[in-house]
Amino acid sequence: MNVRDAVLQKFRHHFGTSPAVLARAPGRVNLIGEHTDYNDGFVLPAAIDRAVYIAARPRPGDTLVHMLSVDFDAQSTFSLYNLDDPDLPRWSLYPRGALWWLQEHGYLVPAFDAVIGGDIPIGAGLSSSAAVELVTLELGLALAEASMPQLEKALAGVEVEHQFVGVPCGVMDQMASAMGRADHALLIDCRSLETTPVPVPAEVSLVILDTGKRRGLVSSEYAARREQCEAAARALGVETLRDASLAEVEEARARLGDLLYRRARHVVSENQRVLEAVEALRSDDLVRVGELLRASHASLRDDYEVSCAELDAMAEIANAQTGCYGARMTGAGFGGCAVALVATDAVSAFVEAVAPMYKQRTGLTPQVYVCRAAEGSGVERLSG
Ligand code: ADP
Ligand code: MG
Repeated sequence: MNVRDAVLQKFRHHFGTSPAVLARAPGRVNLIGEHTDYNDGFVLPAAIDRAVYIAARPRPGDTLVHMLSVDFDAQSTFSLYNLDDPDLPRWSLYPRGALWWLQEHGYLVPAFDAVIGGDIPIGAGLSSSAAVELVTLELGLALAEASMPQLEKALAGVEVEHQFVGVPCGVMDQMASAMGRADHALLIDCRSLETTPVPVPAEVSLVILDTGKRRGLVSSEYAARREQCEAAARALGVETLRDASLAEVEEARARLGDLLYRRARHVVSENQRVLEAVEALRSDDLVRVGELLRASHASLRDDYEVSCAELDAMAEIANAQTGCYGARMTGAGFGGCAVALVATDAVSAFVEAVAPMYKQRTGLTPQVYVCRAAEGSGVERLSG
């Protein structure tokens, strides 16, 4: 049974009635444009065909929310007037955060019964957290009989993560989850927040390869990279690295010193690769897209130094397979996932080859998710 039907069935079984509303929000994978978001640059994520769902039924006149989690096999009952109660379970933090945001912004969400469940692997870097924020915002807005543009929902999700959960994330994950389009990636200009859907040809699949290596160093190294980018921008006399050209970085090489030079070269060249990948996708030139993915990986490994042995092994093994146009690490680095662009008719052979080779080389069992680019978050009203 697919996860959507499983959530609906769980609701009927547990609450003994039919849900009135079903909200859905997808996970995402970033095809190219890594560590460019906080430099006001470009990213190219796609929403994927794995999502979190909430089935719900309002209980007007009450103040308690009853929420059942399929994935955590748990139930949480909380008051709409005490959403930040520290004794409540951690798994309901993100949904409570979204309800908190709606209240803070004047939306009157009634009490409700709900079942939440999804098929985005949790904590793997495919942004199950942003999906939970978006799916709860979609649900809350529907129950409040209100609506908001997708971009505003995404920015609300970011505020939930910053202000309620306490994680200083960028805007990409929520924007991809809210604004993704089926069979398209989403070019995001992280300065203007302008988005442009870019077609992903039907003959290609997005294969996500989880290395099984959990990200360790990520928060301290991430902060260090951000500081290095700011220092490089200051040395170059620009507001952010978005405003620097490769020629300017080369010209300033001695002044920057080796470390800042390589950090800046990654960010500036990565922005260029994103824009080139967009052009290549538009002209169906998957070979070129693949080259850009490989160049992105090399730049992240050598200049930005955020890869690790497992990500390097995964990318190398994937890139050696027939039918693979290109593969690279995706996400902040130091573990997590790689993404590969693979001819759809070669996907099964690709998966059968890559998983055992990776396991033999690293001793880790990888998880493989074959995905397509999917539509962003939304809500359905159910009859009956
Ligand atoms: P990710 O890389 O998947 O976004 P995070 O650590 O940022 O990982 O977020 C994971 C958290 O999101 C979980 O601990 C949980 O609180 C919430 N979450 C994700 N998926 C679900 C789900 N299906 N049901 C309930 N909560 C979920
Ligand atoms: Mg997350």
